[in-house]
Amino acid sequence: MSRILCLIDGMTGPGFSPEDYPHLRTMTMTGPERHTPPGMAPETLNCTLYLLGIRPVPGDLRAYVEALGGGVEAAEEDLLLRLSWYGVDSAGHCTVPIPAPALPGQPGLRHHILRDYQSLLLFPGQAYRLEYLTTRPPLGCHGVPAVFFRPLGFRALEDFFDGQLALGRCPIPWAQARKTAVPPFPVPAAAVCAAPILKGIARLLGMELRNVPGATGDTDTDLSAKTRAALEAAEKYDFVLLHLNGADEASHRLSPEEKRDFLMRADATVLPPLLASRHGVRVTADHATDPRTGRHLDWLQPVFVKEGA
Ligand SMILES: [Zn+2]
Repeated sequence: MSRILCLIDGMTGPGFSPEDYPHLRTMTMTGPERHTPPGMAPETLNCTLYLLGIRPVPGDLRAYVEALGGGVEAAEEDLLLRLSWYGVDSAGHCTVPIPAPALPGQPGLRHHILRDYQSLLLFPGQAYRLEYLTTRPPLGCHGVPAVFFRPLGFRALEDFFDGQLALGRCPIPWAQARKTAVPPFPVPAAAVCAAPILKGIARLLGMELRNVPGATGDTDTDLSAKTRAALEAAEKYDFVLLHLNGADEASHRLSPEEKRDFLMRADATVLPPLLASRHGVRVTADHATDPRTGRHLDWLQPVFVKEGA
């Protein structure tokens, strides 16, 4: 028998009630549990590591985990940053996300496009700059002067930002990190996930990543295929992390209806086969996400446990 953790990103929040979901409500509700590490923001990376038992959750980790998720190699002494690319209007204000551009090679840095508007910037040998570096994450940046997001404390990064701004685009640097070792997950484990940050978490913890065709990390994912993959992995591993990202994405799109619809489909598609299996099953969220504001919330989380598991 294996233990399957079905982690539904951003499941809870205003408007969520377990009574709305016919299969979830048959499970035993326990908790609530704290999934946000003390002193940290309610983000998927922090919360997932915390609920998987990592103590303490290291800071300065995010861009490195994104690199792991994107298959980008980094050395311990390298400085890594996430870039989120935005357009800039004639008044110098950030507009909407734009595709991360392919950049010509530049000495002293490496640029890797992850997907859409997201990329990674790597400065070989510059990890010690972390201590001196200040950045601002791209939260609510629409209409904000682009210079507000200018990094401080590392000249090469400041020059990079200024150079891109002169070209009429704003690469907001944030989530600076260095390669950090975390103890491997204590039992043989596999992960079924598509969101890049989750792939990075799985690699960080030494979990086997199961590739599932049709898994998108959003509401259009193939829920049946992910469930089958989790049950297959449960035959081989002591622990399986099944991550569903659609509710969080729908919440960020400010769509309560889409969030609820996704949770309904997860309840109808994912839970019956898991509950009918011989494996232990727990269902919970990393954090709450408010579909009216798109913001993560630092709420304690209920944990739904399969009866008898
Ligand atoms: Zn989110």
